[in-house]
Amino acid sequence: MNNEKNYSKHIIVFIISSLVLTLLMNILVMPQLTKPKVEETNYSFFLDKLEDGEITLVQVKDNQIKFKVESDDKKQVYVTGRMSDPNLVERLHKDKNVVFTENFEERNILLEFLVGWVLPLVFFIVLWNILMKGMAKRMGGGNAMSFGKSNAKIYVKAQTGKTFADVAGQDEAKEALVEIVDFLHNPEKYAEIGANLPKGALLVGPPGTGKTLLAQAVAGEAEVPFFSISGSEFVEMFVGMGAAKVRDLFKQAAEKAPCIVFIDEIDTIGKKRDGNFSGNDEREQTLNQLLTEMDGFDGKKGVVILAATNRPESLDPALLRPGRFDRRIPAELPDLNGREAILKVHAKKIKTEENIDYNAIARATAGASGAELANIINEAALRAVRNDRKVVNQSDLEESVEVVIAGYQRKNAVISQKEKELIAYHEIGHALVAAMQKASAPVHKITIIPRTSGALGYTMQVDEDEKFLLTKEEALARIATFTGGRSAEELVFNTCTSGASNDIEQATKIARAMVTRFGMSSTFDMVALETVTNQYLGGDTSLACSAETAAKIDTEVNDIVRKAHQKAQQILKDNIDKLHELSAFLLEKETITGEEFMAILNKESNNTL
Ligand code: ADP
Ligand code: MG
Ligand code: ZN
Repeated sequence: MNNEKNYSKHIIVFIISSLVLTLLMNILVMPQLTKPKVEETNYSFFLDKLEDGEITLVQVKDNQIKFKVESDDKKQVYVTGRMSDPNLVERLHKDKNVVFTENFEERNILLEFLVGWVLPLVFFIVLWNILMKGMAKRMGGGNAMSFGKSNAKIYVKAQTGKTFADVAGQDEAKEALVEIVDFLHNPEKYAEIGANLPKGALLVGPPGTGKTLLAQAVAGEAEVPFFSISGSEFVEMFVGMGAAKVRDLFKQAAEKAPCIVFIDEIDTIGKKRDGNFSGNDEREQTLNQLLTEMDGFDGKKGVVILAATNRPESLDPALLRPGRFDRRIPAELPDLNGREAILKVHAKKIKTEENIDYNAIARATAGASGAELANIINEAALRAVRNDRKVVNQSDLEESVEVVIAGYQRKNAVISQKEKELIAYHEIGHALVAAMQKASAPVHKITIIPRTSGALGYTMQVDEDEKFLLTKEEALARIATFTGGRSAEELVFNTCTSGASNDIEQATKIARAMVTRFGMSSTFDMVALETVTNQYLGGDTSLACSAETAAKIDTEVNDIVRKAHQKAQQILKDNIDKLHELSAFLLEKETITGEEFMAILNKESNNTL
C-alpha cells in the first residue's frame, strides 16, 4: 500500500515540476526566441527611411530611437542615437504609416506553441520513460507499471518439457495430480455427480523428492494455463508489495480460468502467524491476502492452487484447513522400486552399457532422494568421460554412489602406514561386528581410501530388501556396529582415536531415538519424550519432558551405548584372528567387496570349527 502511495506522490511531484518548468520556458526562453534582431545604424539612415515612408514602428527614448523598416523585400529593426531634433515627434506622428510602440516583437504563433508547450511535453515524456525504465529494472519488474504485479511465469501445455513420464516412483502423488488435471479437462464428468474440485493441493516431502518436478509435469500435461511462482518472489523490499502481488496473481488466474497456479516453497510466505508484535508484518499481510484470495474464488470456476513445501509443520493452520489446501500430497523419499525407476528414468539421458544392474545401485542407496539419484547418474557419466569411455558401466555407477555419499577419492592424501593400519582395523571392526550379528545388514564393501568428505574409510552395508520398520534388535545391532570401529582400536592398539566421532554421533542418535521416541528402553514405557520438529529437514527434535526425566534419558542412552560397545568388544575378542587377517587383507587391497570379506570370514570359521 505504502508503495502505491509513494508512487502517486511521485506522479504528482513530477507533474507539478513539469508545469513549472514549462512556464519558466515560456517566460524566460520565449522572449529570447521572439526578440527581433536589432541592427545599429546612423541618424541619417533613419531620416532617409522616414522620408521614404518605410518606417512602420518607432520608439523614441531620451537618447535612442528604435525603429522598424518594412520595405518590399525585408523587415528589419534598427536603433540609432537621438539628435537634438525638436519636431521629430511631430514629423513621425504626421506620417500615417508610423505607429509609436514599445513592442517590436514578431509573433510566430506556431513557433511559440511548439517551443513553449510541445517541446517541454515531449522532453518530459521521454524523461519519464527513462526514469521508469530504470526504476522498473531496479525492482526487477518487466515494464514501467509493474509495481505490485506478480511475475508468475505462465506456461501452457508442454512448455516445461516435463511430463508425468519424467517422474518415476511417486505413484500416489501422480495419481492425485492426474485427477486434478482430468478435472480441468472434463469438468462435466465431475459436475454430473456433484463433486467439487479440490481448491488446492499441497505437495509435501523432503528436499529433492520431485515436488517441483511433479508440478512441472502437471504443467506439461494439463492443457490449461499454468502459473508458476516461488514463495520467495512475494517477498519484496516494500511492505504491502507481497499482498499486491498475490492479488494480481489471482486476478490473472481468474481471467485465465480454468488454470493451475503453482506456488513453490510456500513456507516462505505461509509461516504460522504468531501472536507477538515483532513478527514480520509484510509476510503476514501477504499470507492474509493469500487466505482471502483462496476463499474468494469459487471452486467451480476451475482455478486449482498447487503448492510445495518441505516444512508443512511450519505452515499456518488456516492455510491447511479444508476449502483452501484441502488435499495433501506426500512426496516421500523413494523406496527400493522407486529408486530403481528413478535411476532408469535418468539413465535414459546417458549412454550406458547394456545390462546394468540398477537394482544393485538402488539397494545401495537407501534413503537417497530423487535429486541425489539423478546426481549419481550424472556423476557416473562424468566418471566415464574422465576415463575416456564412450558408455557408462556398472563400476561408474557404483563409484558415483560413493562419491555422492562420501565425496571424491583423495588419491594423493598422504597417510602414514601406522595410521592406515589403524584405519583398516577400525573398518574391519565395524564389518566384523556387523557380520557377527544376525539383525544387521550384510557388508557390501569396505574401503580405506580417504574421501573428500573427510572420511578416512568406510564400511558399506546394504540390506537385501527394503526395510520399513526398525526392530529393537536391529537398532541395537546397528549401535554395536557403530561402536565396532572404536572397539577394534582399543583391542588391538590399546588406544582410541578421533576417527570414531561420526560413529559416536550416529550411535547416540539411534540410542536416543530408541529411548525418547520408539519406547524401546527399559526405564520408560510408551511415552513420547521428544517430538520431531521438522520431519523433512534433518528431523530435529525438541524435548517434551521435565529436567529430571531428561537426566534419566541421558543415563539410559549412555547405558544402551555402553552395552552395545561391550558387546562389540566381546565379538571382536572372540574373532581376533579374523580381525587380524581381514585387516591385513584390507590394508593390502585398500578396497574389498562384501564377497571377499565373507569368503575370508567363512574360510576361517570353517577352520576353527
Ligand atoms: P523438490 O522436491 O525439492 O522440489 P525437485 O522437484 O526440484 O525436488 O527435484 C530435483 C531433481 O531431482 C529433479 O529435477 C529430478 O531431476 C530429480 N528427481 C527428483 N525426484 C524425482 C523422481 N521421482 N523422478 C525422477 N526424477 C526425480
Ligand atoms: Mg522444489
Ligand atoms: Zn567408524
